[in-house]
Amino acid sequence: MIQVNPETCCLCGLCVGVCPPDALDLTPSELKVLPNCTDCGWCVPYCPVGAISGGRAPRRRAPVPSA
Ligand code: SF4
Ligand code: SF4
Repeated sequence: MIQVNPETCCLCGLCVGVCPPDALDLTPSELKVLPNCTDCGWCVPYCPVGAISGGRAPRRRAPVPSA
């Protein structure tokens, strides 16, 4: 599962709308990652302050060209 750094997250809510299974729950005091998170990593680049880490997509590596 992805991780949200509560010390960095400013509760802006930008990530909430981009989650395909709607697994991000923004409350007045924290951003919760719900159990239906698929760890897709889609939300990670949408966070303007880099508060989300983990997920599968950011760790995907580009294909290495064959020599
Ligand atoms: S990793 Fe994917 S499923 Fe999980 S919160 Fe982010 S966008 Fe939603
Ligand atoms: S986009 Fe980043 S700062 Fe904004 S609510 Fe999501 S995790 Fe927090």
